Amino acid sequence: MVTARRISASDPGAVGEAARCLAEDGLVAFPTETVYGLGADATSGTAIARLYAAKGRPRFNPLIAHVADLAGAKRLARFGTAAESLVEAFWPGPLTLVLPKAPDCPVADLATAGLDTIAVRLPAHPLARDIVHALGRAVVAPSANRSGHVSPTTADHVLADLAARIDMVLDGGPAAVGVESTIVACLDGAPVLLRPGGLAREAIEAVLGAPLAVPDGAGEKSPIAPGMLKSHYAPRARLRLNAREVGADEALLAFGPPPSDAGHARAVLNLSAGADLAEAAANLFSHLRTLDATGATLIAVAPIPRKGLGEAINDRLRRAAAPRPRPEPSATPE
Ligand code: AMP
Ligand code: MG
Repeated sequence: MVTARRISASDPGAVGEAARCLAEDGLVAFPTETVYGLGADATSGTAIARLYAAKGRPRFNPLIAHVADLAGAKRLARFGTAAESLVEAFWPGPLTLVLPKAPDCPVADLATAGLDTIAVRLPAHPLARDIVHALGRAVVAPSANRSGHVSPTTADHVLADLAARIDMVLDGGPAAVGVESTIVACLDGAPVLLRPGGLAREAIEAVLGAPLAVPDGAGEKSPIAPGMLKSHYAPRARLRLNAREVGADEALLAFGPPPSDAGHARAVLNLSAGADLAEAAANLFSHLRTLDATGATLIAVAPIPRKGLGEAINDRLRRAAAPRPRPEPSATPE
């Protein structure tokens, strides 16, 4: 592949072209309500191998299978009572469920990293669902960026990372939610929050009528959430979190009223001047990219409350600020 074709989502042929490309083991980036996903046919080992290579994603990090409707989800996984009630309340939407694989689940083993569980999501974005529906099979769609980088919320972000590595990007404008889906495992025992995300924990707990459990031994290479790497979502610049003042050559990522010394900053962007967490989530990744592009070596980030979508925002910022590992020996070579 030379350079990805960019197709406007309003082009009447867009969905058909995307589905044809996926059917031929192509890689197609498309908008979902959370971030842009990089789609591949979930039943094709060849397509999934290409996807891991294009992202430089370690193969121990399994993928989320996207479906067009509940019937499609039930061909992949077994739903217990907790899962059924979450689906009823929140699908389609930014909620991924990790469930026991269905006995004849057609998803390629490479997509689930050999686990007997599978992550499934029914996205709210109509374009994402239309593409899956047109293909007629589940589509794996991790964020459309090089592994470890900042996730894309526009088609331009996708092309900046992957133009020479994928076949097509559908441009549907900026993603509305801006952070990845919340992941909840519904296996044996109480539901577990594997990753905070675009659906607030409080909303899920209200439906379950109980607090979400936290993973056993969560973190680096934990078998239950193998992809929750400590360093992820990382810009080139270093991040300094919970900053209440700005250093001389720092860029500032503000939230709410900026500190009085904000004028010293080399550049200032505000996640939400009105301290709205949904607006902050939608702006997070694109503001990180813009500040990174100023050439600042340090980005000071204002404190952000941990409630609601603030839990996901703080999670992404913590990973973006974490020390960067050397490349994984098991990662797919570039
Ligand atoms: P991404 O596609 O990069 O947003 O990440 C998907 C996340 O889902 C990763 O953190 C994976 O570890 C997690 N995931 C996918 N499948 C499973 C599974 N079967 N069990 C636990 N976590 C999973
Ligand atoms: Mg990602």
